[in-house]
Amino acid sequence: MAKVAFIGLGNMGGPMAANLVKKGFAVSAFDLSREAMAQAEAHGCALAASAAEATEGAETLISMLPGGEAVKGLFLGARGLLQALDDDVLVIDSSTIAANDARQLIAAAGERGLRAIDAPVSGGTAAAAAGTLSFMCGGDSGAVRAAEPYLKAMGTNIFHAGPAGSGQVAKICNNMLLAIHMLGTAEALQLGVDNGLDPRVLSEIMQASSGDNWSLDKYNPYPGVMEGVPASRGYTGGFSVALMQKDLGLAMDTAANSASSTPLGALAKNLYQLHGVDRETQQLDFSSIQNLFRRPAGD
Ligand code: NAD
Repeated sequence: MAKVAFIGLGNMGGPMAANLVKKGFAVSAFDLSREAMAQAEAHGCALAASAAEATEGAETLISMLPGGEAVKGLFLGARGLLQALDDDVLVIDSSTIAANDARQLIAAAGERGLRAIDAPVSGGTAAAAAGTLSFMCGGDSGAVRAAEPYLKAMGTNIFHAGPAGSGQVAKICNNMLLAIHMLGTAEALQLGVDNGLDPRVLSEIMQASSGDNWSLDKYNPYPGVMEGVPASRGYTGGFSVALMQKDLGLAMDTAANSASSTPLGALAKNLYQLHGVDRETQQLDFSSIQNLFRRPAGD
């Protein structure tokens, strides 16, 4: 049974590790959070006392961490995990981080003679649980091919976007677009509601018309319109405002590096900053941007 080390068992990493177990991989898991570790154990992962211990005897290491600082902190430097890995371990970082940070990680792995790819995901927590994530990979084709059996255990679409860092570029292009159509959807729904429309009826009309989009179809931001989405459970779970703020920051940094014009992305970043001013709101799902447009009751 192939052994996989999995580091970072949060909203995404937890269900991804569980799917690897379901598909027959022996998963040795580590997270800084006890709660995340307990859940991973309940899903059949073996717990390790440290990231380095998780990698003992592993053929592949998958990381799913909050951001670039966590990834660089884990892997790089004289005491980083790259130094502790066996020579033939394949490193797959699925965290969403800056393309330049991914390039730095992959180059450092290369200097140690290790194969590594960036493989951020799209699909959210529901797709992570269902094993239907999309992976956007960056790195050389041999390493991406070697990663495929592991990625297929957690996802359905595996794309090779290009060399190191390309997966991250694809990911932030996608998430910038996601922020923009979520904002547009919330704005249009509120305009309808403010003018007497039922948000369910309006959603149905727009889904069958030219305004149809993923936010409307799969992730309706208006409470009560769609079952099983964060909007219908107080915007809990899902993809946090804080993570969307991070991704829009990465998109703006990338645009600055390439001197690209991204006015709608910049506006989306500003609106998400305006919305997520306090810690409580930052932990809500990103579809809570609907609240930015809703009028206080009685208005
Ligand atoms: P999360 O905060 O729920 O999970 C991150 C986990 O990493 C936490 O359990 C934390 O304790 C752990 N961690 C942090 N530093 C660590 C370290 N040094 N060693 C071990 N564990 C460590 O975040 P998430 O929602 O699972 O997102 C993970 C990544 O996936 C992020 O980069 C995010 O941008 C990306 N992503 C998230 C979603 C989503 O819908 N949540 C969708 C696509 C991509």
